[in-house]
Amino acid sequence: MPLLGCIADDFTGATDLANTLVKGGMTAVQVIGVPTGPLPEADAIIIALKSRTAPVKEAVAESLAACEALLAAGAKQIFFKYCSTFDSTDEGNIGPVADALVRRLDCGFALANPAFPTNGRTVFQGHLFVGSTLLSESGMENHPLTPMRDPNLVRVLGRQTDGTVGLVPFAVVEQGAAAIRKAMTGLKESGRRYAIVDAVTDAHLLAIGEAAADHALITGGSGVAMGLPANFRSKGLLPERGEAAAALPPMRGHAAVVAGSCSRATLGQIGYARDHAHTLELDVLATPDAAALAAQALDWAQDKLGDHPVVIAASAPPEKVAALQARLGREAAGALVEQALSTVAHGLVARGVKRLVVAGGETSGAVVSRLGVSSLRIGPEIDPGVPWTYAEPAGLHLALKSGNFGARDFFLKAFGV
Ligand code: ADP
Repeated sequence: MPLLGCIADDFTGATDLANTLVKGGMTAVQVIGVPTGPLPEADAIIIALKSRTAPVKEAVAESLAACEALLAAGAKQIFFKYCSTFDSTDEGNIGPVADALVRRLDCGFALANPAFPTNGRTVFQGHLFVGSTLLSESGMENHPLTPMRDPNLVRVLGRQTDGTVGLVPFAVVEQGAAAIRKAMTGLKESGRRYAIVDAVTDAHLLAIGEAAADHALITGGSGVAMGLPANFRSKGLLPERGEAAAALPPMRGHAAVVAGSCSRATLGQIGYARDHAHTLELDVLATPDAAALAAQALDWAQDKLGDHPVVIAASAPPEKVAALQARLGREAAGALVEQALSTVAHGLVARGVKRLVVAGGETSGAVVSRLGVSSLRIGPEIDPGVPWTYAEPAGLHLALKSGNFGARDFFLKAFGV
């Protein structure tokens, strides 16, 4: 029976949350999409949706279906996870989804906190900062899907909900859990449905987590989840698991990396791999054909598979990406590469690869769906934010790396070489 049931509005955000909970001593499984069968065994289940930019109705319906599955499995608390930059528009989807969950859980109130101080996201007087700049000057004001032009989260959430939003300010948060709990109770009693809670440090997040121990619903980024494992431990519901929470079956089988991210960190990691591993860089512009690219990669890899990873990358610097996009269009270029790389991943697994690193958020989504993976057990962290995971029943270890994550030697380090 899960203690914590989580609904995440995107795939890599779900992994980030799961990773935080595992580090806090909870076992965690990430389920891809609304579950159709029984849920796996774990202290925390994180259902990964793609609801961040979906039409509002769809996001609400999927989130409610996920909530139903978690409640049916016995979850004691529901966590709605969104991005630490509060990615949303005036139409939603944070407000409408949270409203629907508050109604379903009949709790009347929930806190909202996207802070993630380690990554520079802090909330002060209700205003969200990215590093030292306001959200609305951080580059997020130009986001193609969810431009964030107002840094005041009380106003932002206020425009998305049919309820009202209050604030638990820094001065209260500084006083600790009891003061935060009292302030939240006061807001609830005065008819507020939400409280944006300031948080500038991890200590604030831990205190907020403690203050929300008895809340039916918590909404926020992965940061505010840091305080939750301790609540279950102090209620005697969660044993001291320590590092055993991250235990996965032993790693075996051939090792490989498939990279479709063109982010700066990934390009650096490919540069490092050139000198330390068999590395194939596909020339997509020369062969703009997914099946031909995949065949080329699988032929190349055939006699190189083993303990030392092979690295297959479609990633390219901005001018080459722009050239392919100019020829095929932005979407078609991305789709072609995603199709090629997911076919490569599938072919590698068929050839005995059991340990696979995938670089790129969209690329990971395409690979996971091609491999038919429906859930991932979360294991030890390789680099901040990127854990090894284990996909049953395929018996496959997967590390899904968001583009800009990981040190330069990530592709070797992941395999301990
Ligand atoms: P990140 O996490 O770095 O954003 P993603 O995988 O989410 O990485 O996005 C990278 C996108 O770029 C994918 O759609 C991928 O198919 C596409 N892509 C990869 N290589 C190329 C290339 N050489 N030319 C054009 N697009 C590419």
